[in-house]
Amino acid sequence: MPVIIHWFRRDLRVTDNVALHEASRRGERVIPLFILEDAFRTGPDVGAARLAFLFQSLEVLRRNLEHLGHRLIIRQGKAEEVVPKFARETGAEAVFANKRYEPYAQARDKRVAAALYKEDVGFELFKDAVAWEEREILNLSGAPYTVYTPYSKAWKARPVPAPVPRLKPAATAASEIATDPLILDPAALGFPLKQTLPAAGERAAKDLLDRFLAGPVLRYDTERNFPAVDGTSSLSPHLRAGTIGIRTVLARLAAVREQADERGRRGCDIWLNELIWREFYQQVLHNFPHVLKGCFRPEYDVLEWSGTEEHFQAWCAGQTGYPIVDAAMRCLAATGTMHNRLRMIVAMFLTKDLLISWRRGERWFMQQLVDGDLAANNGGWQWSAGTGTDAAPYFRIFNPVSQGEKFDPEGVFVRRWVPELASLPNETIHQPWSEPLLSAVRYKYPSRIVLHDEQRPKCLAMFKAMKGK
Ligand SMILES: Cc1cc2nc3c(=O)[nH]c(=O)nc-3n(C[C@H](O)[C@H](O)[C@H](O)COP(=O)(O)OP(=O)(O)OC[C@H]3O[C@@H](n4cnc5c(N)ncnc54)[C@H](O)[C@@H]3O)c2cc1C
Repeated sequence: MPVIIHWFRRDLRVTDNVALHEASRRGERVIPLFILEDAFRTGPDVGAARLAFLFQSLEVLRRNLEHLGHRLIIRQGKAEEVVPKFARETGAEAVFANKRYEPYAQARDKRVAAALYKEDVGFELFKDAVAWEEREILNLSGAPYTVYTPYSKAWKARPVPAPVPRLKPAATAASEIATDPLILDPAALGFPLKQTLPAAGERAAKDLLDRFLAGPVLRYDTERNFPAVDGTSSLSPHLRAGTIGIRTVLARLAAVREQADERGRRGCDIWLNELIWREFYQQVLHNFPHVLKGCFRPEYDVLEWSGTEEHFQAWCAGQTGYPIVDAAMRCLAATGTMHNRLRMIVAMFLTKDLLISWRRGERWFMQQLVDGDLAANNGGWQWSAGTGTDAAPYFRIFNPVSQGEKFDPEGVFVRRWVPELASLPNETIHQPWSEPLLSAVRYKYPSRIVLHDEQRPKCLAMFKAMKGK
């Protein structure tokens, strides 16, 4: 039986890991490898929060592997050079990895495959990050879905793949192969961490899933929309880093649903829809890679965004004068995360009130988010801007005041992140400008940088002008 290298990428776990399981099933020995590629610290989307979460997840993975008698080897450099060199050094006959769906990652994997081919070393990729991938779910004409609802129906009509077993303990002593002496600290790579991050690693992910499935999932249908309520799973950084397997999540959800009453089942079904949104956007990125460079509907690329740099900076800093927008943006800066409802509100505000291209917001999110994921982020931004798949019609424009009043009715979230407004009553916390006794607050909190009622028609005119082109 051969020696097989398992190349860890976005699958930093020993449980329910398809390629790792296959390597241990088919190999006499498995050598775990992680490569710190240049892309981790170069490029416009790099952010300290995601990098720190990755390094913390790697450290937990290293310990988990050690516990099973395996040793994680970390190397630095270009994958197409490091992988074949490492295969030569270890005498490995094959390299296994789990598939990635971003166009740049797929191009990189092709280069690695070609380099390994020259060395006569096999390279196998496995489906792991999603239940259904690429072109597995097609419409009746054999084309990929571009609308979520029929895609999700087709997704649900299929059997859910079962989790795969945990990595077995090593049969022989761990190798003495050298690992590069790397300092896994974002600051050392030029990205000092300012955010407080959630706990990383498999145990932390499992704890979150346990907590969520023990109660919140049963109320998810109503509570998922309120940022001041701990009503969602917070699993997105883990699903992105691969510190939990999607098959495990789906199997655990199905078991909870089985025992739930009608209301609980509704919560479970709506949560499943969110997990399917994740897969929907992964297949969109794979099948329509032009979304990386522009609008899903290319005719929207000619939109003339007229917003200013000054307004963009105010949005990033949480200084727009709209409490729910500012609270959300300040929360993002401090924690690297943002509730889904708030992501939609701030994205609509940037594009439809400030008239700034969704691409600038997309990039800012990638630089800040601990869960920043190309497919989900691009999909979320294009949905909000009205340029994407299954787009909300462009004339659907959220009002930041009524959104705040509806989803943070007592201002709990706003008071937490915009302390200048803490003393305002519920009635005016989302519109401090209407507060009669305002002088002290007005002194500390900015005035609105634009008036929503004036921007709405400008946004509609921008979209109409495009239609005429
Ligand atoms: C403008 C914008 C940008 C976004 N950027 C990202 C991003 O970079 N990374 C990311 O993971 N999600 C992104 N989302 C989707 C969503 O906001 C987050 O997945 C969610 O807030 C994560 O919280 P949670 O883990 O508690 O989610 P839960 O509500 O518990 O949902 C469970 C899981 O389903 C997936 N999910 C939920 N909603 C969506 C969605 N709309 N699209 C795709 N997957 C979804 C996530 O993996 C999430 O962890 C974005 C949404 C918008 C509107």
